[in-house]
Amino acid sequence: MYVVHIASELSPIAKVGGLADVVSGLSKELISKGIKVEIIIPKYDCMDHSSINDLKPITPDIPSYFEGEYVPNTVWQGFVDGIKVYFIEPHNKTAFFSRGEFYNCPDNIERFSYFSRAALEFLYKTKKNPDIVHCHDWHTALIPLFYNEIYKSLGLSIKGFIYTIHNLEHQGFASPDILDRLGLNSSYFLTPDRLQDPHRANLINFMKGGIVYSTYFTTVSPNYAKEVQTIDGGFGLHNLITSYNYKFEGILNGLDFSYWNPETDRYLPTHFSINDPKTLFKHKEANKFYLRKRLSLKGIGPARPLVGCITRLVPQKGTHLIESALFRTLEMGGEFILLGTSPEPATTEHFLLLKLNLANNHHVHFEMQYNEELSHQIYAGCDFFIVPSIFEPCGLTQLIALRYGTIPIVRSTGGLADTIFDIDHSDKPKRNGFTFNHPDKTGVFSALDRALNTWYQDKKRLETLILEGMRMDFSWNIPAQKYIEFYNRCL
Ligand code: ADP
Repeated sequence: MYVVHIASELSPIAKVGGLADVVSGLSKELISKGIKVEIIIPKYDCMDHSSINDLKPITPDIPSYFEGEYVPNTVWQGFVDGIKVYFIEPHNKTAFFSRGEFYNCPDNIERFSYFSRAALEFLYKTKKNPDIVHCHDWHTALIPLFYNEIYKSLGLSIKGFIYTIHNLEHQGFASPDILDRLGLNSSYFLTPDRLQDPHRANLINFMKGGIVYSTYFTTVSPNYAKEVQTIDGGFGLHNLITSYNYKFEGILNGLDFSYWNPETDRYLPTHFSINDPKTLFKHKEANKFYLRKRLSLKGIGPARPLVGCITRLVPQKGTHLIESALFRTLEMGGEFILLGTSPEPATTEHFLLLKLNLANNHHVHFEMQYNEELSHQIYAGCDFFIVPSIFEPCGLTQLIALRYGTIPIVRSTGGLADTIFDIDHSDKPKRNGFTFNHPDKTGVFSALDRALNTWYQDKKRLETLILEGMRMDFSWNIPAQKYIEFYNRCL
């Protein structure tokens, strides 16, 4: 079987969030299960080129239609973690992917719809006929439609399209004329059974296109698959998703266990292993020591519990709750580390101000940047990891924390509810964290207080919880098998 992923992110070279991790982790696992996998992404100027091997141009001039003319594209080929990746570099006037950033551009609709069409053009011109094309989020949602309308009749042969929704909040609304600019007839598509947004009659909705035109569509956890069919979780698409739910399923994301591995992680000062429980806690403590030193946390007196948080600072992640958790942790004698970035200047300013106000407090550290190395050290060095999301399609950070023996404290929503089971209240036989339900201060404190109090009073109980969490298999093994089932159904 031959599968091509077409996506806007790929870990570790072009990563903004979990989408990047999923595309790379799932691809690696599919390859290990004998499937031929290739990936197509844009050739961003800001990619981490150091992690791409043998990057070279392979086709200097694949022309793709846009705004009445054919724009030439250079397609590059390289290898990322051994996976063959094609990079599309359009030579249009505004150089879509040479902006120094992945997403924050006013013409994102043009950039990614152009990329989607160019990716199919590449498959067509190079006579690649993958069995399955797997598309992700709104950026590549129109690919099944482009295939049906343009490339199928030209002779490109693809047996099925899987479309995965990683986050329903971002759907890609656009004026229909983008379709005319891409060579299609917009009035044909601005109808309720095609691309018309259910609530904005004059706009098309890219994500709706992915749902309507794909062979099967999925989302990233079983619980989120239920939530998106409700008025609260559906962001306006709940009725549409429900009406297509005969071809819909929630498949829990996995974690790339070879990359996120405390036994081999290249960023950790001291490695540790679940297979060696005798040294595990001592070695984990060494990571805490190193992290506190690196970030100049200077507790004097008795040891303190350390809480970490790594996130995009956006409303979805419960930024106000993160702030409440921070102050509560300090109040209870603990320490707090926040590593995060925000696309919103006002949020960045807010957290920078908070950082300034707390500059003399040696029990808290803010890092307002994207930092892969530090993220690994936080996962390994903290006692607890907090994820107070308002909604969370799957969430990877809690899974990484588990793998590094750091106890998650999470709001039970979406994929967090599928993966974290409360030490006191879960009906599951195996537990791995602290959870709360209500997205308010009282809710957060109900879990955080229990966690910190247990740290002070009953370390043995926490150690049992850590071991239980580290033993759980949230790798890609089972999720990849489920994707393969869907690929087979397409065949
Ligand atoms: P989302 O995709 O909504 O951002 P996920 O939990 O699915 O959330 O994935 C987040 C991924 O991004 C994790 O791998 C996390 O470690 C990483 N990440 C988020 N912010 C940062 C940051 N500032 N520095 C390093 N890694 C980060």
